[in-house]
Amino acid sequence: MGTPTFCERLKEAMASKGLKQVDVLQIAAQRGQKLGKSQLSQYVSGKTLPRPDMLAFLADALGVSEDWLKGSAGNEAASDGLVNDHQHQPRFGAQAHDNAQQEVRAMRYYDKSSKLNHVSYDVRGPALDEAMRMEEDGIHILKLNIGNPAPFGFRTPDEVVQDMASQLRDTEGYSDSRGLFAARKAIMQYDQIKGIPNVTMNDIYTGNGVSDLINLVMQAMVETGDEILVPSPDYPLWTACVTLAGGKAVHYLCDEQAEWMPDIADIRAKVTSNTKAIVIINPNNPTGALYPREVLEQIVEVARENQLIILSDEIYDRLVMDGAEHVSIASLAPDLFCITFNGLSKSHMIAGWRIGWISISGNKRLGRGLLEGINMMSNMRLCSNVPAQSIVQTALGGHQSVKGYVVEGGRVRKQRDFVYERLCQIDGISVVKPKAAFYVFPRLDPNKFNITDDEQFQLDLLQDKRVLIVPGKGFNWETPGYFRIVFLPRRAVLGEALDAIEDFLSYYRQ
Ligand code: PLP
Repeated sequence: MGTPTFCERLKEAMASKGLKQVDVLQIAAQRGQKLGKSQLSQYVSGKTLPRPDMLAFLADALGVSEDWLKGSAGNEAASDGLVNDHQHQPRFGAQAHDNAQQEVRAMRYYDKSSKLNHVSYDVRGPALDEAMRMEEDGIHILKLNIGNPAPFGFRTPDEVVQDMASQLRDTEGYSDSRGLFAARKAIMQYDQIKGIPNVTMNDIYTGNGVSDLINLVMQAMVETGDEILVPSPDYPLWTACVTLAGGKAVHYLCDEQAEWMPDIADIRAKVTSNTKAIVIINPNNPTGALYPREVLEQIVEVARENQLIILSDEIYDRLVMDGAEHVSIASLAPDLFCITFNGLSKSHMIAGWRIGWISISGNKRLGRGLLEGINMMSNMRLCSNVPAQSIVQTALGGHQSVKGYVVEGGRVRKQRDFVYERLCQIDGISVVKPKAAFYVFPRLDPNKFNITDDEQFQLDLLQDKRVLIVPGKGFNWETPGYFRIVFLPRRAVLGEALDAIEDFLSYYRQ
């Protein structure tokens, strides 16, 4: 195969950024760059090549170098029937470039690794950039987009802060690569309480948040071509890390009609001879679903029948409402190889200190080689943030302030009830009541709003009403017309945002 052409490169760069033509047009308009709809579609179809200034704009907007974007056209003679934007100007200024090359060495540009080409993580995508731009212009944005507790007044308990302060001097050096003894002991005891079987001190690894460990485990576990079952909708880091590790994320359905429970028939249908593991996110981000024991037992059964590793992300396990109990899937699968992910970012409101962990449980003989890989990856990064490890014992033991947030009258619970009830009042919205975490994932009636482009909806809502949400697409949910609201902001802010959304939906149609 020869070098890709300009139009192939353009399409590749747009796809890797998740941009459609309409998005590129929008970026051009925002930056005051003249670019017409038909002009862009001529570039995309390969009928026209851009002038140097337009090439520079496109490269910049798409985050690639001009040289790369040019593709093979950068070296071709202008005789293949393609027309330039400007008939008298050599394509991409090739002549000028050649002349310049005779005098100085060609400039070298640096692209992101092609490993990232199919990786997407849109929770912090282009709309966030636009929101930041609006904020720089002094516009106040109502942010319902990120599950970061501290900015909304959920503060780390004083005792935890004091304990970290008093241990700072003792935590200057690297720790054991798995983590401090005291931290792992507290995690081990926590696992015992949750009935997670067979976890020893050496089966626990601390990391800089669960995020760090999702990546670490995927790098240690996934071979090129391995298939990993991941929920849809998902917390998109899972799909991203499977892909980055060379695997294929195969999405199984979580069914809105069944309160967003995993669809067991769909899981079964998606298992192939390449399937290595199944990921569950319980409690779930973005749906707020909490999986009952019976559902977990069915997932275990599928894993057992197909000899799959179970990877369970339980970072929201203490943010459970309505008197429900969180069941750890690993407690139901003592005969399987399970990795449970947890941490302090959410239930202890310590997202910024970056502390999470994995507990490996069940039949560990099945994964001796994998354990070697995890150990190797853990050694390679030396250890996780040691001051944050030093407060794990304090945070996990004793009084759990999180309980006060989720009981009747607690702040998270009141905000959940308010958002749910308010959403139910809005014409054209349907919503499943979340039972855990701090997210809700409403649906916009397709007959009323005809949403075909989630990201356009997100951007239009932001620009019209200054409310920032994340659309379903950001969670690998393919059906347009869904979005996630984070209900961490105070009730007054939530009220203002929901009033704005209601007003927006009174006129918005796609
Ligand atoms: N897993 C899920 C399901 C999440 O929602 C998040 C963050 O939002 C994470 C993991 C990342 O957590 P951490 O802060 O521990 O990296």
